[in-house]
Amino acid sequence: MPFRIVIVGGGIAGFTAAIALRGPDRIITVLEQSRLNKEIGALISLQPNASRIVESIWGLKEELHGDARAIVDEGFRIYNTDGRLVNTVPLLSKKEYGGDRLCFHRRDLHDTLKKAAVSPDREGDPVVVRTASKVVECDPSKGTVTLESGEIVTGDLIIGADGIHSAMRKHVLDAEPSALPTGHSAYRLMIPCEVLEKEEPEFCSKINPRDPFTSMMVAHNCRLVMGPGRNGEVYGIVALVPDEQMNEDPNAKQSWVAEGELSKMLATFSEYPSWVTSIFKHSQDLGLWQLRDLDPLEKWHNDRLILIGDAAHAMLPTQGQGASQAIEDAEALGSFFENITDSPSSENISKIFEEIFQARYSRVSLIQAYSRQAAKPATATDDNKKVTMKADEFMDYNCMYRGAKLWKQQQEVSSTA
Ligand SMILES: Cc1cc2nc3c(=O)[nH]c(=O)nc-3n(C[C@H](O)[C@H](O)[C@H](O)COP(=O)(O)OP(=O)(O)OC[C@H]3O[C@@H](n4cnc5c(N)ncnc54)[C@H](O)[C@@H]3O)c2cc1C
Repeated sequence: MPFRIVIVGGGIAGFTAAIALRGPDRIITVLEQSRLNKEIGALISLQPNASRIVESIWGLKEELHGDARAIVDEGFRIYNTDGRLVNTVPLLSKKEYGGDRLCFHRRDLHDTLKKAAVSPDREGDPVVVRTASKVVECDPSKGTVTLESGEIVTGDLIIGADGIHSAMRKHVLDAEPSALPTGHSAYRLMIPCEVLEKEEPEFCSKINPRDPFTSMMVAHNCRLVMGPGRNGEVYGIVALVPDEQMNEDPNAKQSWVAEGELSKMLATFSEYPSWVTSIFKHSQDLGLWQLRDLDPLEKWHNDRLILIGDAAHAMLPTQGQGASQAIEDAEALGSFFENITDSPSSENISKIFEEIFQARYSRVSLIQAYSRQAAKPATATDDNKKVTMKADEFMDYNCMYRGAKLWKQQQEVSSTA
């Protein structure tokens, strides 16, 4: 019997799980609710721990730098509101990390991963991607999911990669936690660099939008995080705002496709100088989402179903680890199921899922906690949950990662030492 794998959700977690799990005698199907045809103007970064997996383990270096038009981020530049550079934090990765911090237009990264999943040139059969296929039910013991149309799809494994508002989560946990608001929301803008160069010479005289750096400006309780994508063709901006300073209703803005209003954004940023705020109007669309994360879940799997990515451990974007941790999950699935070719028994699946959970849980939970701590002042974090590592130690913790199996061994050795 072939080994059948059903992945619910065709985001970064879903497609990377599909890439990692491809192999002989495996039939992999990705069920995605959307039509995957809407371009969301957002940048996304992969940290060295994830870029190394995609480039070196899955062999997609050329694709990341070619099709996906990666920018190698060289560091952070902090500006004051006069446009004076006040600090630079170089980011070029240490050699030991084995990868760079890469920035992408989210769509380019997503399309490149999807292309690899369905490519006839990789090991095993190409993954089948079914769009407009919303999953509404799951029976983890039978290994079935039900689509909105009523169709039932069966697999040996069901992978819940359906994001922060996961419909699969309730089939793993008795009491389902809801995503927690953090008190901050974020506007998301994307502007062609040539428009900035033509229309906004003052901005470009202070900040060159094509430079491979992440630029930040923090003032009046708000934070602008800006950087180039698509080989420098576009400039992405994320503008973080405390909810109480918003002129919009944050509770209405919980999906990735929700939109904000320019006039309300400008009112919120009225104390910022016009050389910055005048660029906002050039964005083709204005996304707005409320920053939410999850407390660590008590388990990630039940019978034939496992949660990965944001469905299992949604985190705040302050460490840029959301997509990177989803990629680490995918690598873990690929590696722990490496030698399974025939349809595995439910007991065998549960055993492997538990190994994955044990290998991943404490690491992901710590990164979730650190990401939360970096967003809120430390006072908001329960003292005994506070991560005490310094920023550079934490960078090493994040980036000196060589896959789930080795990580598990290292943790076992250090706990017995
Ligand atoms: C359109 C979009 C824009 C985003 N923009 C940003 C951003 O600007 N900044 C940021 O930090 N993060 C953003 N993210 C989230 C970021 O991509 C994730 O945090 C990270 O990549 C982990 O991805 P994931 O695959 O676990 O979840 P997601 O990227 O959320 O992917 C989940 C996928 O599952 C699909 N899905 C959900 N429910 C069902 C269902 N019932 N049946 C079938 N399919 C389902 C969704 O349509 C989606 O494609 C965005 C996600 C999306 C989908």
